[in-house]
Amino acid sequence: MNAMPETVLLDGKAFAARIRARVAAHVAGLADRGLVPGLAVVLVGEDPASQVYIRNKGIQTRDAGMNSLEHKLPDTTSQAELLALIDRLNADPAVHGILVQLPLPGHMDADAVINAIDPAKDVDGFHILSAGRLATGQRAMVPCTPLGCLMLLRDRLGDLTGLNAVVIGRSNIVGKPMAHLLLAESCTVTIAHSRTRDIADICRRADIVVAAVGRPRLVKGDWIKPGATVIDVGINRVEQDGKALLVGDVDFANAIKAAGAITPVPGGVGPMTIACLLANTLTACCRAHGLPEPEGLTA
Ligand code: NAP
Repeated sequence: MNAMPETVLLDGKAFAARIRARVAAHVAGLADRGLVPGLAVVLVGEDPASQVYIRNKGIQTRDAGMNSLEHKLPDTTSQAELLALIDRLNADPAVHGILVQLPLPGHMDADAVINAIDPAKDVDGFHILSAGRLATGQRAMVPCTPLGCLMLLRDRLGDLTGLNAVVIGRSNIVGKPMAHLLLAESCTVTIAHSRTRDIADICRRADIVVAAVGRPRLVKGDWIKPGATVIDVGINRVEQDGKALLVGDVDFANAIKAAGAITPVPGGVGPMTIACLLANTLTACCRAHGLPEPEGLTA
C-alpha cells in the first residue's frame, strides 16, 4: 500500500473500545444508585446476519454492565403481536432502550412498528419524532452509525465549522441523519445519490467525504481532495482471487494516497455502531431518570 506518510488511519475498533469503556464506567456509577440500564432487542425471523448482529449486541451490552433483554419471535408473528410486545416494553421501567432489528418480514409495516416505540426509548433513532427532532436541531436520539461517524470526524478534525462535506447516500438510517449532523456542526453539506450528476467533481471539493452507498469501491482515489477526511460506511461482500472479501464504498488502496485520514473496512465505522448503541442506551437511561448525561457520547 502506498500510503502517504501523513495519512492517518481512523481506527474505529480502538475508538469503539474507548467508548465502550466510558459507557461501562458510567454504568458502574449508576449501579451505586441501584440503576442498571436495560436494552431490549427484538428479532423477528431467522435472518442469519441479524442473528449474528444481535448476538454481538447482547455480548457487548452485558460487557458494559447493562441488561440485555432479547426477544426472538418466529417469522409467523403477526404485526399485532409485535406491537403488543412493543407496548409491554414501552411500559417496562427496566427497559431504557428498544431496538427492533431490521429488516422485518415482508408482511410487516416497518414504519408502523418503529413509530410504536416510545421515542424516549428509541435508541436506534429511527422513530419519526427522533428524525424530526434531529432535522430541526432539537435534542434527539441520533442513529448509531451516523453518530459513530460524527465522533470519528470530531476526534480527527475538532471543530468542523465551515468545512465542505459531501454525504453520498440519502437513506433514512445513514445518509440523511449524517447530513443533518454535519449541518448542525456548521459544515456546508452536499448530499449525493444515484441521480447526482458530476459526483466526482462534487467530491473533489470536499474536505469531508462520507460514503454510505452499498457499492463496492464506488468512490475512486482521484475523487479525493488531497488531505480530505474520508469516512467509509459501506460494507460490501465481494469475491477477489477466489476469496470472499469485505470492502467499503471507497477504493481504499487509491483513496489513501490522497486522503489526510481515512477509515478502513473492516475496522472503521463498523465497530462504532454498536458502541454508539450502548452510548444511546445509557443516554436514554440517564434522561429517563433525570440524571446528568455522560459527556461526549451524544451529538
Ligand atoms: P441504502 O438504503 O441502500 O441507500 C443507499 C444510498 O446510496 C441511496 O441513497 C442511493 O441513492 C445511493 N446510491 C446508490 N447507488 C449510487 C451511485 N452509483 N452513486 C451515488 N449514490 C448511489 O443503504 P444504507 O442502508 O444507507 O447503507 C449504505 C451502506 O452502508 C451499505 O453498504 C450498508 O451495508 C452500510 N451500512 C453500514 C453500517 C455500519 O455499521 N458500518 C450501518 C448501516 C449501513 P438513491 O436514494 O438515489 O437510490
